[in-house]
Amino acid sequence: MNTNIILPGFEEVTVTKMESVDGRLCIHAEMPLKPHKCPACHTLTKKTHDYRIQKIKHLKIFERLTLLFYKKRRYGCPCGKRFAEKNPFVKRYQRLSMELNQAVKIRSIKGKTFKETAEVYGTSSSTVVRRFDLLAKETLNEASKELPKVIAMDEYKGDTKEGKYQLIIANGITKEPIDILPNRYKNTIKQYLRKYGAKVEVVIMDMSQSFKAAVKQALGKPVIVADRFHFVRYIYWALDGVRRRVQSSWHDYDRKKCKRMRHIFYKKSSHLTEENKWYLERYLGMSPELRKAYELKEQFCLWFNEAKQNGEKNIHQTKEALYALYEAIDQAGIPEFQKAAQTLKNWQIEILNSFSYNYSNGFLEGINNLTKVMKRNAFGFRSFLRFRAKILLTHKFKRLGSHIG
Ligand SMILES: [Zn+2]
Repeated sequence: MNTNIILPGFEEVTVTKMESVDGRLCIHAEMPLKPHKCPACHTLTKKTHDYRIQKIKHLKIFERLTLLFYKKRRYGCPCGKRFAEKNPFVKRYQRLSMELNQAVKIRSIKGKTFKETAEVYGTSSSTVVRRFDLLAKETLNEASKELPKVIAMDEYKGDTKEGKYQLIIANGITKEPIDILPNRYKNTIKQYLRKYGAKVEVVIMDMSQSFKAAVKQALGKPVIVADRFHFVRYIYWALDGVRRRVQSSWHDYDRKKCKRMRHIFYKKSSHLTEENKWYLERYLGMSPELRKAYELKEQFCLWFNEAKQNGEKNIHQTKEALYALYEAIDQAGIPEFQKAAQTLKNWQIEILNSFSYNYSNGFLEGINNLTKVMKRNAFGFRSFLRFRAKILLTHKFKRLGSHIG
């Protein structure tokens, strides 16, 4: 029978029969006779030489696995050349239709595991992996790797064969991930930046001495911007250190309660509830040193908020207020804060840059969280290259729907 239902992708195709066999949908189809140009002598011919039935796996239709029985025509040119007709659904030597191939590729990126993708499309894991690797090769090529003017870098725990920590490099302006390095060693970073970093002017990073050294040695004098999230932590760690040291000499009840309530020390003071305030006052009242530490943290937060508002224009004021903060820390003589101040001093240029340039790599946190989800879903990736491809492709294809198929 000839059906007058036109299936998507089958617009120019003659469907001669549709049947359900063992729960599978079988579509028998052929192409209409049409003059084809002979690849050998370039004359047009309409003479059918013979037909071959090609069995092709296709996208699910009506939730059924679908097989296409394509009656493929070969034309025979008077010059003696025989050649296959053009068709919209399958490439030479393929057993999956083009649409299924495309869907498998997209799902191989977006799906949880290759195995799950294989099950959805009724194919094998190795087929899915092959499609994925091919796509990675086509999409993530060397030529497009020249780094942009502003890059951000951060480490994350990937646990692949190549090492525990990997380094992600992203575009600091568009926030798109660019590459992932197998480890965070100085030499790895240096070599990479030497190769691709000729245009880099600004680097946003967390406060790692080896990152800084690698960037300086590879790129000369780029502007280095310390990530805000990372340097703020040093002050919070200092306060936490003081709290733990001080409470250790307290009575059991207060020690445990204070530990449980520790979040009240870090909360913005404007966000504290009445109960929070009561406890805060109680613990600060038990130790003048803890009270001083808390005040220093508050002074730091005040400085930080003003620095954001000052921006580049009033960077001088930000710098003066930072000196005042060092001074206050010096006078307080609390070892945890003195240590934190030393770190801030070591990174002072990079910290001030973060307010002059208003860049941060906070967005990498989001990317790294997504990476963790992928790692968990796939029960860990042993191959670094495949994991790298999965992360980069996921972000590249983010806007592409996964509804296909
Ligand atoms: Zn010919």
